[in-house]
Amino acid sequence: MLLALVAACCLLLVSQQGSTQAAVVEIPRVSSALFSEGLSLRGEWRFRPGDDMNWARPALDDQHWQLVRMPQRWPVGGYPEHDNMGWYRLSLRVDPSLRDVRLLDQLAVRMGKVLSAYELYAGGHLIGSVGRLPPLNEVDYDRERVFSIPESAFADDGRLVLALRVWGGEKALVDAWGAGPISGHFMLGNYRELMLDAVTAELPGLVLSALTLFFGIYHLYLYWRNRSLESFFWFGLMACNIAVYGVMLTQWKYATDISFLTMKKIEFGAVYLFPAVGIQMIWSLLQLPFQRWLRVYQLSFIAASFLVVSIPGHTVHYLSLGPWQYWSIPAMLLVPWVLLRETRDGNREARAVLLGTLVFLGTAVNDMLIDLVHLETTRLAPLGFIAVLVAMAVSLANRFTAMFGKLEAEVAERTAELRDANRQLAEVARVDHLTGLLNRRGFTEEGESEIRRSFRAGVPFSIILADVDNFKRFNDQHGHVCGDYVLKRVAELMRSRLRDVDRVARWGGEEFILLLPGTDIEGAAILAEKLREAIADNVFEFGEQRLSITMTFGLAGFRKGESLDTCIARADTALYHGKESGRNKVMIGNFRGLSLVN
Ligand code: GH3
Ligand code: MG
Ligand code: MG
Repeated sequence: MLLALVAACCLLLVSQQGSTQAAVVEIPRVSSALFSEGLSLRGEWRFRPGDDMNWARPALDDQHWQLVRMPQRWPVGGYPEHDNMGWYRLSLRVDPSLRDVRLLDQLAVRMGKVLSAYELYAGGHLIGSVGRLPPLNEVDYDRERVFSIPESAFADDGRLVLALRVWGGEKALVDAWGAGPISGHFMLGNYRELMLDAVTAELPGLVLSALTLFFGIYHLYLYWRNRSLESFFWFGLMACNIAVYGVMLTQWKYATDISFLTMKKIEFGAVYLFPAVGIQMIWSLLQLPFQRWLRVYQLSFIAASFLVVSIPGHTVHYLSLGPWQYWSIPAMLLVPWVLLRETRDGNREARAVLLGTLVFLGTAVNDMLIDLVHLETTRLAPLGFIAVLVAMAVSLANRFTAMFGKLEAEVAERTAELRDANRQLAEVARVDHLTGLLNRRGFTEEGESEIRRSFRAGVPFSIILADVDNFKRFNDQHGHVCGDYVLKRVAELMRSRLRDVDRVARWGGEEFILLLPGTDIEGAAILAEKLREAIADNVFEFGEQRLSITMTFGLAGFRKGESLDTCIARADTALYHGKESGRNKVMIGNFRGLSLVN
């Protein structure tokens, strides 16, 4: 990865070197190529520090001037003995036939970035300027422009002399950055073509910035919708910051009415904030603890950003950029180190961010070298930022996919647990906890379906209600615990004497109900009598005590068309009468009224 970055930087360097041209350029006849591709003016120009308006004159002999490359930054410190003024000259010889086909009047010069202000002369005439030279002293070193060359600038023999009068800027700038022509296109060509090229070259920057801004605002919006997405907030802030910086790197910023100074304040403010927001973004994504020293380090960047914006004038920019870059180096080492550590520890989010950060660091080193040792490559930071953003986006997506996956699994597990618990609850709700028999609710449910089944099969069934006699007194005599024990034993007794298809339930306190499918009232009477005898004969052993009880039974055979409740009500009436007639009885409630079995 790093090797690839180094290789890319070298390639860039080589490609920039390759476009060097000879000092005096013969333009080919009518050259249609010139009009579509333009002629590079990068290469050797004559240069002389100082300032003399006569140096714009085409006839001036500049052979003793020094030869310098265009563009090339002045040495740091510039030319203070000449108030940081200097002139560049380039002589061209144009094929006169260009005039014949009326192409000369469409010629133009495209100028790259020149620190800090300049005037351009062609054939001794001022054809344009950027910023303002002393005594007005107005820097505007980012602007790239295309100037039309008037036909009058050409001598009769086709000679054209371009003269560039440069003001390096105030001492602090020249001391920090060097000044002079630094980068960009220096071309001769057709005005429209050059303009078109310039605009086209600036389009990707604008599109990237717009996309990044959209990306940023979208993530801020997501955070606004869900405040727990803290890393989205920092990610969104970072993206917006990158978008602002991105626009400031393009010429589109000049489409606004904002002054150059304000634009520089915005650009520096954004740049100085990057480490602060970047660290916060990565730490929040990886959910790492934010140590106090890291917070102090982060605050220093916020303070730097605030200061560079609030201190008036450009001087603070020249003075602070270098120190800021050195101050950022710990962050540039810390972030990949932490990412490496986290990746090694199996943090999946860290891996994607690590890749993006390495690309970014490559571009950042490139850009720092441009400023610190005046390396002549293109600024790559915007691409690096995009790499970080994409990596962050991938990592955020990974994180949330994993989170949602985990959440889904958890929901599935909880749902299964809930279903189980519900089933258990439903079970519990149907069962009497003392005897383990069905309770009233369970019995009613099963009874209803039993009725339907019996109807379908056309078989009879009967209901028996059985109630312990004088149980209140029994409790009073032997205690409630003993009463409970007896109820449990009665339940066991009944269950052991019933068929599988029969149902028995605890209907109330000491009252039981039996449902006997396929058994008519006579059969039910026989069973009830057996149960009555069995219970009456049974000895309940509770501790030392040997106890006995009796039960009374009320029977009803199910009649076609009646409800379960009605049938039970009839059994209940029979039971009541059983009690009335002395207890320990089996009483049948039938068509003819009631009849006692025993
Ligand atoms: P009867 O022969 O007319 O049925 O008289 P009884 O005393 O059995 O009837 P009553 O309805 O007056 O009293 C029922 C008693 O059953 C009252 C209560 O103490 C007892 N009982 C009800 N549920 C339980 C229980 O879960 N455990 C115990 N130990 N006793 C219960
Ligand atoms: Mg009773
Ligand atoms: Mg009772």
